[in-house]
Amino acid sequence: MNQNEIVAALSAAIGAEQVLHDDTSRAHFSHDLFHSGLPPACVVVPRTPEDVVDAVRVATTAGHPVVPRGGGMSYTGGYVANDDKAVMFDLRRLDRVLEIDEVNRFVTVEADCTWAKLHEALAAKGLRTPYWGPLSGKKATIGGTLSQNSVFFGSVRHGSAAESVLSVDVVLADGACASRLGW
Ligand SMILES: Cc1cc2nc3c(=O)[nH]c(=O)nc-3n(C[C@H](O)[C@H](O)[C@H](O)COP(=O)(O)OP(=O)(O)OC[C@H]3O[C@@H](n4cnc5c(N)ncnc54)[C@H](O)[C@@H]3O)c2cc1C
Repeated sequence: MNQNEIVAALSAAIGAEQVLHDDTSRAHFSHDLFHSGLPPACVVVPRTPEDVVDAVRVATTAGHPVVPRGGGMSYTGGYVANDDKAVMFDLRRLDRVLEIDEVNRFVTVEADCTWAKLHEALAAKGLRTPYWGPLSGKKATIGGTLSQNSVFFGSVRHGSAAESVLSVDVVLADGACASRLGW
């Protein structure tokens, strides 16, 4: 599809207000801290996981690559698409702490909850996660950090980000949702 067509298809699926295609937004999402690429065709800003599923399905069925972006705090080109057909997913609206289970000692968060937000929610209860986020954790998200499996002070004792995770829900490239992949 050309740019107008993919914007129209995504807007029909999840609502036009969740599909950015102005030049300023596309330019902003074309680079990380150190690397620049081509502006993506558009940027999806989903409000719910279901929106992610629907938008991924629309984009990949039409042959467009999809690229997730969290807090945008990485500098290794991971989310720099360098493809003007790419559909970028800015996931920062999916930032809720869904559950803190104090008895069984686990938390459930949306993918783009920041480490700072989780830390504050747990500190209010006198708790913390073993891995407690990277130095960039005021902006960096749990989804982005898991993708890169980051480490920080305390990792010698508590391990990397992934070692504090029990399971994840994953949206696959065809828009299917694989739930609760555990390890
Ligand atoms: C000042 C500063 C301090 C830093 N400190 C540390 C540190 O202490 N330790 C460390 O390891 N790193 C550090 N970093 C690097 C970086 O901030 C971390 O790797 C951080 O975890 C990136 O998280 P993010 O949410 O910003 O991800 P992004 O930069 O947005 O994305 C990172 C990668 O994850 C992918 N991604 C994002 N969200 C998702 C998702 N929901 N699902 C699947 N894939 C996704 C992206 O496509 C990209 O490939 C630092 C960077 C800066 C600028």
